[in-house]
Amino acid sequence: MKCYRCGKPADTILSDSNLPVCKLCFSNYIERKVIKTIRHYKMLKYNDTIGIAYSGGKDSVVLLHILYKIEQSFPQSKVIVITIDEGIRGYREEALKAVRKNVDLLDVEWHLFSFKELYGNTLDEILSKAAELAMKNNKKRLSACTYCGILRRKALDYAAKELGVTKLAAGHNLDDETQTLLINLLKGDVDRIGRLMPIHDQTTRVLVPRIKPLRKVSEREVVLYAYYNGLEYQSRSCPYAAESIRSDVRLFLNEIEKKIPSVKHNLLHALDTLSPLLRKQQEKELKYCKHCGYPTSQDLCKSCILLSKLNLLDKQRINFFQKI
Ligand code: SF4
Ligand code: ZN
Ligand code: ZN
Repeated sequence: MKCYRCGKPADTILSDSNLPVCKLCFSNYIERKVIKTIRHYKMLKYNDTIGIAYSGGKDSVVLLHILYKIEQSFPQSKVIVITIDEGIRGYREEALKAVRKNVDLLDVEWHLFSFKELYGNTLDEILSKAAELAMKNNKKRLSACTYCGILRRKALDYAAKELGVTKLAAGHNLDDETQTLLINLLKGDVDRIGRLMPIHDQTTRVLVPRIKPLRKVSEREVVLYAYYNGLEYQSRSCPYAAESIRSDVRLFLNEIEKKIPSVKHNLLHALDTLSPLLRKQQEKELKYCKHCGYPTSQDLCKSCILLSKLNLLDKQRINFFQKI
């Protein structure tokens, strides 16, 4: 089989069109797809300082390399890397090595923030405190990903603000976006669906707009891009991953995809139609957390609620008030 673009031997098939392509044409195709997404949603300006949320996994390494390449054509823009170390023993250390390799390779600025520094405790410590309290009350503790997701989101927003970035880029791919939509539907968390936007302009006084340039690139394409370009990343799963229903939803969607090949794009379309409607409702209700100043619809933000239930709120060092 020959590449339909350049005639060299093909290495794979494009899933959108079933056309054969070589490695190089595949990489160009993915980069063009990201550029189109950025243009379509007006995600970036020529002089943005882009903070890339870089965990060390495959999505964030691909995002870093593609955005770095694109930004070479915009001398007034800048790419910096932000990593949040949640404090997961035996797991994050390996990811940080992969991050170090890639930031050194591209010679980009790297800023590391940790849960320990921002919340006074690592994720492991927070979870053991949560398990202790849950046992006392004869209950099950919340999943690790609930604590991790809520606290990491606020940590990234805080880091972006502290570093003066103008856009915060996250590596969510097509599969992540559609899985998150389904997970939130299954949980009945309609508010969260309103926040799943390609560019979350975060019309608040304190937050940096978030962008998701990989949202139309599938997980398979991310893995192939990393492989064809020899990008190093951490491939081992987080030890807490099994606590989340994400892997079940992932399997379910991949099964459905065999019958409806466009299912993930269909869901993304549904999400893009729904979220602006839900968002309007949220804007009316927007308040700021009484404890830390983070945007919320309640008196306290979600992370302050979680930490206060564990009596750990006084250890938090994040404060959005001073940035207003
Ligand atoms: Fe955090 Fe869950 Fe991801 Fe592990 S799998 S890094 S606990 S969100
Ligand atoms: Zn080719
Ligand atoms: Zn708060």
